[in-house]
Amino acid sequence: MLHRIILLITGSFLASATRAQTNADTIANIIRNHIYRLTTPSMMGRGYVGNGQKKASEYISSHFTNLGLTSVAAIADMQQYYSFPVNTFPSKMSVTINGKQLLPGQDYLVGAASTTYNNRKRIAIKNLASVTTPQQWRYTKATFSDTCIWLLLHTDSMCQNTGIPSHQLPSLLPSGCYILPQKNKLMWTVADHTTAATVVYITDTSLPALPTVASVDISAKLNKKYTATNIVACIPGTLPDSFIVFSAHYDHLGKMGSNTFFPGASDNASGTAMILYLAQYYAAHPQRYTMVFIAFSGEEAGLLGSAHFVQNPPFPLAGIKLLCNLDIMGDATDGVTVVNATLHPKEFELLTSLNNQHQYLPIIKSRGKAANSDHYYFSEAGVPAFFLYSNGGEGYYHDIYDKAEAVTLQNIPGVANLLINFTTEIQK
Ligand SMILES: [Zn+2]
Repeated sequence: MLHRIILLITGSFLASATRAQTNADTIANIIRNHIYRLTTPSMMGRGYVGNGQKKASEYISSHFTNLGLTSVAAIADMQQYYSFPVNTFPSKMSVTINGKQLLPGQDYLVGAASTTYNNRKRIAIKNLASVTTPQQWRYTKATFSDTCIWLLLHTDSMCQNTGIPSHQLPSLLPSGCYILPQKNKLMWTVADHTTAATVVYITDTSLPALPTVASVDISAKLNKKYTATNIVACIPGTLPDSFIVFSAHYDHLGKMGSNTFFPGASDNASGTAMILYLAQYYAAHPQRYTMVFIAFSGEEAGLLGSAHFVQNPPFPLAGIKLLCNLDIMGDATDGVTVVNATLHPKEFELLTSLNNQHQYLPIIKSRGKAANSDHYYFSEAGVPAFFLYSNGGEGYYHDIYDKAEAVTLQNIPGVANLLINFTTEIQK
């Protein structure tokens, strides 16, 4: 008898464990499919060249429409349009040192604000380690001219000594082409302007021992008015004026020349895929509160989409009971970190106690305020907002290796179930 009872208990435990696993596998498959679709080459890194970002926005809004989600009253067709300037590299991208062609994205990146440059010149090496004051920098800068291509050594120590933020250095360089060797891995960005100079960041290991001549052919184009869209959709609740918002930015860096794109699988096809899954879940399980889903654009260009949304809210921000922003949600092997946890200790405690109860994630880390994703302007406007990012994986970030294949989705179904459980409790 005892034997039978043990068998029965073991059997039902196994059945519920298998159910949980099936549920996790189903969620992972749905999310994985969205990540592959959002990183497909035809979306071109969801940036500013070849309608890549527009294709991504159409994918997201048609998913919302197919699920039966609706627009919020003040917005037509789920789209909130706005515009900003952005520098792009739609075509030529070629760098050759001592006759050897380098690989874009792998061996080098062009500074995001760089201007067009097409020349073959000798390389002049300038060691900036001895430049320690702003005055010395002004003097050194005056010696640069476009008679050669400059290889600038030790820009980091020069920036540190003179107090120039290293990201501002390209805007301080006179017209011409500058090669900046990089010890660390290459990370690309987006710029809303062009500089007089063309800057090429090259990995140390891609430079020959004695670089003497370079050919640089880079084509830049400043788009003065790129029209972007935030996609906003909702599932009305029985308390229509109370909102829970899930947000994620779907834009990424796009293309650097005609053959190189940044897939942005972890950043942030993963977070976008998570809100697409949550929309699917809540479409089948309507709530008391209205569930709102916002796919932001313009994040990589400086949180522009969420800033625009907060300045032009299509529904009263005061109605938002909680906003959960998801950015980098591809591998939670080491759990998640919650930004703004210290601002909302009660909600954070609820989140961690649900996790302790159900063991969704190995750890939930608490963090304070940070202006590092789209939750920021909401919390500055008084909206209770958490930003969750996952911890784990290879750490590919703003590079050509952030591909769908590299995203493990370890523990990511657990994040989805935790968020669902959490929002159920928030509405009680
Ligand atoms: Zn991001």
